[in-house]
Amino acid sequence: MMATPKRVVIVGGGISGLSAAFALLEQAKSRDAPFQCTVVEGQDYLGGKILTNRRDGVITEGGPDSFLTTKPAALALCEKLGLSSQLINTNQENAQTFTYSKGRLRQFPQGLISMVPTKVGPLFHSGVLSWAGIARMGADWIIPRRARTNEEETLAEFFSRRLGSEAFDYLIEPLVSGIYAGDANELSVDATFPHLVELERKYGSLIKGALAMQRSRPSPRLDAKPRTLFTTLRGGLGDLIASLTERLSGAGVSLRRGTNVRAVQILGSQADPSYRLELEGGDALEAKAVILATPAYVSANLLRPFDDEVSTFLDQIPYASTMTISMVFPELEAKRLVRGYGFVVPRVENRSLIAATWSSMKWAERAPAGQCLVRCYLGGRGREHLLDLDDSELTGRACRELEAIAGIQSRPLHVEVYRWHRAMPQYIRGHRERVRHIRERVDRQPGLYVTGAAYDGIGIPDCIRDADRTSAKLSAYLWDRAS
Ligand SMILES: Cc1cc2nc3c(=O)[nH]c(=O)nc-3n(C[C@H](O)[C@H](O)[C@H](O)COP(=O)(O)OP(=O)(O)OC[C@H]3O[C@@H](n4cnc5c(N)ncnc54)[C@H](O)[C@@H]3O)c2cc1C
Repeated sequence: MMATPKRVVIVGGGISGLSAAFALLEQAKSRDAPFQCTVVEGQDYLGGKILTNRRDGVITEGGPDSFLTTKPAALALCEKLGLSSQLINTNQENAQTFTYSKGRLRQFPQGLISMVPTKVGPLFHSGVLSWAGIARMGADWIIPRRARTNEEETLAEFFSRRLGSEAFDYLIEPLVSGIYAGDANELSVDATFPHLVELERKYGSLIKGALAMQRSRPSPRLDAKPRTLFTTLRGGLGDLIASLTERLSGAGVSLRRGTNVRAVQILGSQADPSYRLELEGGDALEAKAVILATPAYVSANLLRPFDDEVSTFLDQIPYASTMTISMVFPELEAKRLVRGYGFVVPRVENRSLIAATWSSMKWAERAPAGQCLVRCYLGGRGREHLLDLDDSELTGRACRELEAIAGIQSRPLHVEVYRWHRAMPQYIRGHRERVRHIRERVDRQPGLYVTGAAYDGIGIPDCIRDADRTSAKLSAYLWDRAS
């Protein structure tokens, strides 16, 4: 007799929730297990932070515009979805980035390996650091490693100690802001760049460690298409969501949009529970297992009625709000722009922009011939008041900074503003310990799981990897235990 399908409900239809559903589908298929799954998403679109807009030959990304190729999970998902041939590299002919420092754009020194500068020549030529700053950075070679201690350092403490405060302010901080929209005085180095802590431990120096890492890096496989550090899909990252959506709905997964889950209740016994999810509008869903692929503060609210402690830990993960403004300029500006991928702005420069990407120089097919697409990144920890400005004020401010920094003088032909409130989880001091507590407590509740950007990495590949792991645990719970 055919077993009754066990229903799984996934709350949150961002990349974490959708890739968890896809991984579960694969697990169910490989076991030939009957399976019912519903993804419930509060917004009326799927994808969460991944939001691509196509209009008149322009492809804009409201949220992420690419993902890292050094972490395999996103590449592997694209392969499974048959999207590998759609992945594009960054345009190599424009492969340089700039930093706005001390009054002008300067070439961001090449030769950074995993955030650590390893080549002196580009540093001298860029003029980003003073001679004294470069000399101080080089002292990393001889400064003794930190004594073993349980006390976590912030990114600011770690990098200032190893490379000096000038290298931190002008090289490291803008990169950190670009990734986390965070404040390096709060972010934990152990939670954000654990491999750098390990490099110091192992080699006594970041520079020595980065050089050793480079030497031991495997040479690229000759049969594989060489990929640049970041990649995206030809039609934008929205195609990843579209492809996941198509696969999931084709396999019978119910994708429910525009409905928030308001509450989760546990039914049955502690040893063999089931769940009731109350939806906005009065409906309810019952499930044998639930994955919360929602931001930590949402998961905290949903879990509070039956585990106040886990909610307290979840609530301790702060979020930063950010925004992107994509602007299309006439070709004239493309000619004026210095060729490259764009620029970053160190916080010490006191500007509104965190960074700007010359999207149509960085990627192919982002704007029609005769136009150029520029994307500004603003907000972040400590600069969140900017999200309160209205669109025209914001655009005016971004345009004034683009003119002052990069000489862009014309008015944009088209503008898209995306505000992301409480979007970027901040891995502040104590994050790893907090996540350990959260996972431990959630593990005590059979059939209940949390996944997403809040825990073990905010990048798209990190989210997919965590979703894969979560689905593997859930499958073992549903199908591998005697029931
Ligand atoms: C501006 C920006 C730029 C970025 N750039 C990059 C980049 O270039 N590369 C990269 O790798 N990463 C980047 N990131 C990070 C990355 O995009 C995110 O960390 C990742 O997409 C998060 O996915 P997620 O599914 O965990 O969360 P989300 O995408 O936030 O999905 C969670 C979903 O849960 C839904 N939800 C919330 N509450 C409820 C509820 N009660 N009921 C039902 N649904 C609910 C939300 O509507 C949302 O859709 C960027 C992020 C931002 C904001």
